Amino acid sequence: MTRIAIYPGSFDPVTNGHLDIIQRGSSLTDHLIVAVARNAGKSPMFSIDERIALLENEIKSMEKDGLISGKVTVNTFTGLLIDYAEKSNANMILRGLRAVTDFEYEFQMTGMNRRMNRDIETVFLMASERNQFIASSMVKEIADLDGDISSFVPNSVVEAIRSRGK
Ligand code: ADP
Repeated sequence: MTRIAIYPGSFDPVTNGHLDIIQRGSSLTDHLIVAVARNAGKSPMFSIDERIALLENEIKSMEKDGLISGKVTVNTFTGLLIDYAEKSNANMILRGLRAVTDFEYEFQMTGMNRRMNRDIETVFLMASERNQFIASSMVKEIADLDGDISSFVPNSVVEAIRSRGK
């Protein structure tokens, strides 16, 4: 069986936490599809195309460094995740789990997705210790207040935020 997984999220912007999940997720799957959700978030910092470009750039450099094992691609979707997963022939939804904060929401979403399609398993990877507290929303807030975000996100994101100005 080909293991195809969807790793969905807003990725606004991609953080070191996301990249860690992508790297570890790739070793569990034949094809990992990082899927940028079009309908989430009210006032995004980056457009969908910008988020995809940042993700693709980082994935390419992880591939070059030999950190990625399976095939990893980036895509975008609208509407229900479970519909997109079915269309992509995915048998797995991959999510990252940070201590406490993510549990309630993920628990509920997994249960509802499972009722809609029993054949697609949601698989969780625990956030690595050093990334536990990293969240895109906090990165945006810190950047907005001119704080140093360089230990939370890759350099390309630091640059992208810097070049946007205010
Ligand atoms: P969403 O709007 O779906 O929460 P995010 O881009 O914030 O989108 O997160 C996408 C996925 O990545 C979620 O499963 C989330 O729990 C996970 N994630 C976010 N930040 C981290 C992190 N620091 N470490 C591990 N997983 C993370």
